[in-house]
Amino acid sequence: MEKTAASREWVPAELVRFYEEQAENYRALPARDFAGEVARTLAAHERFTDFDCINLYAGTNFMNPRAARFQASSVGSRPSLGYPGDKYETGLAYAEQIEIMAVELIKRIFKCNYVEFRVGSGSLANLYAYMACTKPGDKIMALPASAAGHVTHHAEGAAGLYGLDVHEIPFDGDLMEVDLAKLREKARQLQPKLLILGASLALQPYPVREVRQLADEIGAFLMFDAAHLSGIIAGGEFQQPLAEGAHLMTCSTYKSFGGPAGGLVLTNDSRLAERLDRIAYPGLTANFDLARTAALVVAASDILEFGPAYARACIANARALAAALAGQGLPVHGPVAKGYTLSHHVAVRAAGFGGGTTASRQLEPANILTSGIGLPLPVLENDYNGLRIGTQEITRWGMQPGDMPALAGLIARVLVKSEDPAAVQADVIAMRHHFQSLHFVFPD
Ligand SMILES: *Cc1c(COP(=O)(O)O)cnc(C)c1O
Repeated sequence: MEKTAASREWVPAELVRFYEEQAENYRALPARDFAGEVARTLAAHERFTDFDCINLYAGTNFMNPRAARFQASSVGSRPSLGYPGDKYETGLAYAEQIEIMAVELIKRIFKCNYVEFRVGSGSLANLYAYMACTKPGDKIMALPASAAGHVTHHAEGAAGLYGLDVHEIPFDGDLMEVDLAKLREKARQLQPKLLILGASLALQPYPVREVRQLADEIGAFLMFDAAHLSGIIAGGEFQQPLAEGAHLMTCSTYKSFGGPAGGLVLTNDSRLAERLDRIAYPGLTANFDLARTAALVVAASDILEFGPAYARACIANARALAAALAGQGLPVHGPVAKGYTLSHHVAVRAAGFGGGTTASRQLEPANILTSGIGLPLPVLENDYNGLRIGTQEITRWGMQPGDMPALAGLIARVLVKSEDPAAVQADVIAMRHHFQSLHFVFPD
């Protein structure tokens, strides 16, 4: 047999088979047919996820359609190297204004002095932060996967690829909080150069002030990863990591922030800002996508205007959904005395459903989108032990706390009452179709 995709022995055999079956559809497709094929695929995708699904995946959002149109602008294929006012390329006198608008809006929203927006993703934002604060071989401390620490904080991700030596921040699984006493002891011993707070599931604020004190004592930097939280931090309804002492905050711009896929690195420290500036250019970018930046300006202007109300509504929905799910018999995980969550995230213990990914795949044919997540509970062999839900997108579509019991009822029909998801689907679609207009964005 020919050495093609089938020889990728590091990929599970059933996935190689899946790929090969699908790829067969395209191997003989004439060039002129590809664009039509993409058009049909996108239409089906948009119909499903944007119209017929209740999307509770925590790391996504529906972007303001005006931002989406700007993202299709021709400016997206125009490189723009160097500072506004002194570009390498000519012809950018108009386009460079978009960069200035983006920086000014983001500074106002996050009340910070320096913004690096030439960052392709939240993952790369973390790499930029590591490069600004550490050298390969340095020790760092980050939350483990069982506390939803992100792969980019770990050996397999950007931290390890850059050569950092990663150690775990102790986490109290019952309280769902950083174990400060144990962290102090471990950090004094290890003397890491960087401490990272923030994770892919954050049910309540992190002890940023306390960890900053510790960082000062041992001469480390403190980075806050706000990939998921940037939207509710921007709205002022969650902790303010930079004001509380984080040297750096990294963001994804397409999760709760509601903009295009991309990253940000924010700081008030001019030393770090200078390093980040050089890391962005000439370090790791040549062109950055100015059309994406134009979309980011629109998303940021929405957040500047509607951010506080949006963040409050996301959190109110999450708290109402958590309570309603618990009422339906789902094992909701989180600080119970605080109402399960103080963010837009909700977590459910998933061992009883065969795991978080298994549960999310049971919900998918009912048109409810979620995901698995690591919780600080006994690990399962082949699956995440938690199911994660985020309310940011349903909030933008106008759902309110009063709608959460009905939504919890639909989830419970699949996961608790073991109804055939296909039988629940029609009711999910009917509920979804009640919510047709976007909230917390300027009208088009
Ligand atoms: C999603 C996520 C990232 C990565 O963001 P991308 O923009 O998807 O690259 C980084 N950190 C955390 C905690 C995340 O959840």
